[in-house]
Amino acid sequence: MKLELLAEKLGFQQKEGTFVRTFSGYEASLVMYKVPGSYVKIPMVLFVLNKSIDKEDTKAIMKASKLRGIFKESVALKDNAILIQPRFNNNEKFDAYVNKIVSTFEDLRLKQLDYCPYCGEGETDSKRILKGTIIHVHDRCVKDFVEKVSTHLETVGNSKENLLKSIIFALIGGFIGLLPSIIILFATGFYSAWLFLLIPFAAFYGFKKGGAQRGSYVMVIIALISFILAPGFMAFAYYSMAIVNELTFAEALAIDEFRADFVTDMIMSVVFTALAVFFSWKKIYTQTHGQIKKDISELKG
Ligand SMILES: [Zn+2]
Repeated sequence: MKLELLAEKLGFQQKEGTFVRTFSGYEASLVMYKVPGSYVKIPMVLFVLNKSIDKEDTKAIMKASKLRGIFKESVALKDNAILIQPRFNNNEKFDAYVNKIVSTFEDLRLKQLDYCPYCGEGETDSKRILKGTIIHVHDRCVKDFVEKVSTHLETVGNSKENLLKSIIFALIGGFIGLLPSIIILFATGFYSAWLFLLIPFAAFYGFKKGGAQRGSYVMVIIALISFILAPGFMAFAYYSMAIVNELTFAEALAIDEFRADFVTDMIMSVVFTALAVFFSWKKIYTQTHGQIKKDISELKG
């Protein structure tokens, strides 16, 4: 459903390109929320609060809303925003549902963020739209913050320290991630696209352990490692099979059945690796400097 239509249905008003509605003094925004690490976007009701929502708060809110899980977000502060699904199409039920959650905020002494999150002062002179909601700020504070983070990314972010170590760790990690696929393949003769997903994640885990800076190029390294390891292993398996049967690889390839199986498996390993890279991309990207740069560009407005 279009956000405009849903907003109208649930009583949200348009305000500077956002959709807002106040529930007992708390301003909520209806936003199109991109589920972290995925390509999925869903409409959500967003509340931005003045402090981090801790575990106890989360529990209390979940109890009040009867939700199994809630999304927490960082909007200018860390973990200070909460997203709930607009579950009811019936207005009365929706209002009761949201009001119950809002009354939990009051019980937990979570207040709405109504001051500049960078300096804590109330008299703001500017606004930014972050994650679909309006945040009141000082222009000066935002500029200082953006400059500070940008400078940090330029100096520390471009450091090549530990890069080689991280790449080696990523290779080792990727190989460990490949093992389940190898075991299942030998045991059953099948592949699972989901098991291939372990390769990029394990490679990234290794990269992080290596301690290098996570520039945006990490994505390319992880993709490369995945594409080298999985099809590379497949080729190696066929090569070994030929040797075990006392044939050279060329001789084995001359056998129609061997060649057909080899080609099929090579194609499948490339396809599955591509799927794994595609599905892991966003999740890994959110942990790189690429994500920070994106967040910063949103602030520049
Ligand atoms: Zn400020």
